[in-house]
Amino acid sequence: MKKILIKNAKVLDFEKGKEILRDVLIEGDTIVDVKESVLDENAEVLDIEGKYLFPGLIDAHAHFREPGEEYKEDIKSGSRAALHGGVTTVLAMPNTKPPLDSRAMIDFVIERAKEAGYAEVLPVGTITKGREGEELAEIGDMKEGGAVAFSDDGSWVRNSSVMRRALEYSIAFDTVIISHAEDSSLSHGIAHESVLSYEMGLEGYPAQQEEIAVFRDIKLAELTGGRLHIAHVSSSGSLKIIKDAKERGVNVTCEVTPNHLLLAQEEIDLFNPLYKVNPPVRSRNDRASLLNALKDGTIDIIATDHAPHNWYEKETDFNSAPFGMISLDFYFSLLYSELVSNNKLSLFDLVAAVTYKPAEIFKLKDRGRIAKGFLADLVVFDPRKEFVITEEFIRSKSKNTPFLGKKVKGSFVKVIKKGRVLDIEEI
Ligand SMILES: [Zn+2]
Repeated sequence: MKKILIKNAKVLDFEKGKEILRDVLIEGDTIVDVKESVLDENAEVLDIEGKYLFPGLIDAHAHFREPGEEYKEDIKSGSRAALHGGVTTVLAMPNTKPPLDSRAMIDFVIERAKEAGYAEVLPVGTITKGREGEELAEIGDMKEGGAVAFSDDGSWVRNSSVMRRALEYSIAFDTVIISHAEDSSLSHGIAHESVLSYEMGLEGYPAQQEEIAVFRDIKLAELTGGRLHIAHVSSSGSLKIIKDAKERGVNVTCEVTPNHLLLAQEEIDLFNPLYKVNPPVRSRNDRASLLNALKDGTIDIIATDHAPHNWYEKETDFNSAPFGMISLDFYFSLLYSELVSNNKLSLFDLVAAVTYKPAEIFKLKDRGRIAKGFLADLVVFDPRKEFVITEEFIRSKSKNTPFLGKKVKGSFVKVIKKGRVLDIEEI
């Protein structure tokens, strides 16, 4: 089997909270040795002096639009954008058309991703049949086929007894229920409800629309002992509920998106549809709470909520544009550039939130760390290399991001997927 010896890698030692230098030996698709100095005459040497070696990123929340809306994205272009952004494993959300609510659909996604040969795609199955919120889908069957979690993402499971049973199933099938926490009966708002949204005449989407749903789902997790993960948390009120639940030992984890960590309603063009996301970009206060919650562990992971839309769907008025923005190609660099290099977030907190922590939540035991026996899914990161986020840079079929034209400092230069070394430009 082919051997590769990565020399002089800057590696994060999470136990000691220190940066250390390591040599990493890969054989085939596996890491076989990690030491201060490794010698192997038969290995091809890759010297990465001055650069970081991280585990391949794991994104727990992406929309690949296949089947049904392949003009926005498909599994091939989406998994390519992921790999280009340093993501070696990505969870694909099931709100496609039709939704991923059966074993056959799960098989389809896994096969398509294998054919494409970019990032590994792990499908999330729906909680309910047709994602309609009424009848549980075949969770056990889908899990057997390779679904790693279950969610009706895009909609909240409004029926409490259905959600209760889903959480009970999460124990029986040793899986995770992901909640898109939004009580949409409260409003059909499009912007964070505030004095600003009122002044601008945009229909408000109050924080309570999320918080009510977060609270109920936590109560059901408490009742059942089930395994709950809350997607794209955006409000400081939700964080208080989650923090309290964690302190009481409720089995809940949650994620934040790069958009909510970086943007604030007071600072954006409220009429630009590129900023329209669900949940909406909230206040500066919420943004500050999200960052603090990431540092204190209330928020477990960062997930992209990569949501591609064609240009003509976004080049319309704010009211009629669809929700969502893309970020798979560049989110790590953007977060590094905006938060880590400005000392707002430590490199350790950022890397943990996109590697071993999502691996732990979704029980991906063979990845997320640089250690003997783990998959050789690795990324080489040059903290000094700058680039501009351009349409040409983005491998996603869609370009709907307000960060187009942004210059960032810190770039992946190589991605190693199961032992296969790729230059970032060739992805
Ligand atoms: Zn969602």
